[in-house]
Amino acid sequence: MREARLQLQDHSIESLRARFAEQGIEPWRAEQVAGWLYGRGIGDPAQWSDLPAALRERFAAEWEWHALDWDLVQRSADGTVKGRLRARDGALVESVLIPEGARTTLCISTQVGCPLACSFCATGALGFTRNLTVAEIVDQVCRMREQLVPGQRLTNVVYMGMGEPLLNLPAVLESARLLLHPKGFALGPRKVTVSTAGVVPKIATLLASVPVNLAVSLHAATDAVRDELVPLNRRFPLAALMGALRSLETVTARRPVFFEYTLIQGVNDAPEDARRLARLLRGLPSKLNVIPMNAHEDSPHRPPSEAVLTRFAGDLVRLGFTVTVRRPRGADIDAACGQLAGRGAQPAVASRV
Ligand code: SF4
Repeated sequence: MREARLQLQDHSIESLRARFAEQGIEPWRAEQVAGWLYGRGIGDPAQWSDLPAALRERFAAEWEWHALDWDLVQRSADGTVKGRLRARDGALVESVLIPEGARTTLCISTQVGCPLACSFCATGALGFTRNLTVAEIVDQVCRMREQLVPGQRLTNVVYMGMGEPLLNLPAVLESARLLLHPKGFALGPRKVTVSTAGVVPKIATLLASVPVNLAVSLHAATDAVRDELVPLNRRFPLAALMGALRSLETVTARRPVFFEYTLIQGVNDAPEDARRLARLLRGLPSKLNVIPMNAHEDSPHRPPSEAVLTRFAGDLVRLGFTVTVRRPRGADIDAACGQLAGRGAQPAVASRV
């Protein structure tokens, strides 16, 4: 049986330096390798022309540089691209590339399935299989970059795909270090966002470890409603969540918390809900993303009407909040928020790879 090869993408540059040192390779080669792998997007060591031939051969023989293989690519009529990638154990991982003017955002997954079972989310309905490794998180970025069209550049990465990032925190931190490192993907700190449904004890550790944006999937302003939508709320109710957020020194007007509020017909879309939300967030530097729910077959919930959506967002603006209404992207290929479930049925344009 072939001995398992080492996985380059499992290591931040700092960790790769240490690993190389143990193996008798000069530590500074870590920056060189990362430059090829992430900076230039060239995975094959045979092409790393500034490395000695013997070292290139050694990398080719002993290390791996991909953790995921293509399974399916779907292109939405609105330009959104959903990639379904297959891990070595056959697990399916989904990522979504979302072009918006000059910006192209990649939404990546951190778990296979999700243990949190939010009632409006197709991923939650799958149940939980396992955490993704660092390499499986990082390779979503490498693989999805292959789908960029000429002139398009990846500008933002959001950890908002399948899974709860803070339940896989060590791998999320290590992967974020590679996204931010100047010799890695070289994304600016404000260009990387990690989302949580509210795993309260891990939030401070995340922000103390990597300078990323924090997004909180809030979806309700009372415990009664949030308990139903986000069952994690029964463990960490709103008072605990908001208390933890208010105590963060890293949260400032320049570095606000992004709140995601999925608007669901008849559940959390009343004028009183907007006023409660305003009271809950008052005084905390924040930006609000209001997202009309994306209907899917596993959820009893439905999206609000356009009139209710406009009224809800307008109420919050009048109450002094910065509000963005996020239109569903890639809904025709099940790529919109809460729709990732490894289905890939009836795509607008799909190619099996
Ligand atoms: S919304 Fe996020 S945290 Fe909730 S079940 Fe879906 S993937 Fe998990």
